[in-house]
Amino acid sequence: MSKTILIVGAGPTGLTAAVELARFGHQVTIIEKRPGTSQLSRAVGILPASMQILHASGVADRIRQEAVRISAIALYHEAKEITRIPFGRSADGHDTILGLPQDRTEAHLSDALNAMGVSVSYGTPLEAFRQDERSVTASFGGTQAKFDYLLGADGVRSPVRQILGLPFDGFDIPGKWSIADVETSEWLEPTVFRRFLIPGGNVVVVAPMAPTRFRVISSTEDALASLPVKMPVEKLRRSAAFTLSVRQTPQYGKGRVYLAGDAAHCHSPAGGRGMNLGIADAADFAERLTAGTLAEYSAVRHAVGKKTIAFSEDRRRNVMSDSPWRRTLMETGIRIVGRVPPIAHKFAERFTREL
Ligand SMILES: Cc1cc2nc3c(=O)[nH]c(=O)nc-3n(C[C@H](O)[C@H](O)[C@H](O)COP(=O)(O)OP(=O)(O)OC[C@H]3O[C@@H](n4cnc5c(N)ncnc54)[C@H](O)[C@@H]3O)c2cc1C
Repeated sequence: MSKTILIVGAGPTGLTAAVELARFGHQVTIIEKRPGTSQLSRAVGILPASMQILHASGVADRIRQEAVRISAIALYHEAKEITRIPFGRSADGHDTILGLPQDRTEAHLSDALNAMGVSVSYGTPLEAFRQDERSVTASFGGTQAKFDYLLGADGVRSPVRQILGLPFDGFDIPGKWSIADVETSEWLEPTVFRRFLIPGGNVVVVAPMAPTRFRVISSTEDALASLPVKMPVEKLRRSAAFTLSVRQTPQYGKGRVYLAGDAAHCHSPAGGRGMNLGIADAADFAERLTAGTLAEYSAVRHAVGKKTIAFSEDRRRNVMSDSPWRRTLMETGIRIVGRVPPIAHKFAERFTREL
């Protein structure tokens, strides 16, 4: 039976939930406090698991047409390439990642949503809500309305999570990270994802987003200055420094109000899982609401989130270790992986498929 749902937040999680719920025939209202669409390129990597979720709505096809197909991951000790692991070699060719700026992924989701007759109400912050056993009453944009369910897809600071009084357990990663969103037509091979291990237990990553556009991200305060290989930047679209936290709420909702995406979990960009995990939460929420199994949503998604956070933290701690023996051990391991094709293949599968 068709339900009414209020989705708070039009990031990738909220948009995916809206697309999937509308596709299943539910009545969706989606509100966003920003005045318009985002221009931020935050998440770059789209995993095969997300493409599978976005297939039925046609969003995956649109993404595939525009995105860069990452052909390999190359790992460097400072400026020296120590190994290279090719992607896309599995029988189904799905062991690869697609590179696309997050705002473009969101644009494809919005287009699919509009085509189903639903549009995002921008400039409309959620103000408050209350719930009883049968409905949720929410105030936003000077109105009050009743819904069967509310989904908080409202990011790390999630007002929905705060109103529910749910904790966001975890810790802050010390120091600042930085990003640069650059255009250059003269960067090495433009479909290769590069990870540079640099002194002080730091890392710089260059991820392709478009044929001549790249994301440089680093565990230092200046991503471009930390890059050990010269990048001839033609245009710097954006650079910023930021802090990171590793957190998860123990409960993905209360009563008829649920949480998904960064509202429920956050971690470092190591492994590139954040947006993909939010897309998976959103699709699971839509499926369970339709199937009448929402009672299991919190426990199932919490377990998946916990595993993904552990995966991301494992990667972050490995690349950020400043212990010389741990780095040497890791680099030796990486070299072996790159030289033995069946092991490289397994690595590519794990890196691209696990979520
Ligand atoms: C530098 C950087 C690089 C990253 N790289 C990757 C990557 O390569 N791969 C990956 O998978 N992930 C990556 N991530 C993580 C990814 O960007 C996030 O996980 C993703 O944006 C989460 O989506 P979301 O929709 O849950 O939350 P958000 O994108 O934060 O969206 C939440 C929305 O809710 C809105 N909102 C908040 N409060 C209200 C309110 N009261 N009323 C209405 N609306 C509200 C906000 O305006 C916002 O638009 C990266 C993040 C950063 C910062």
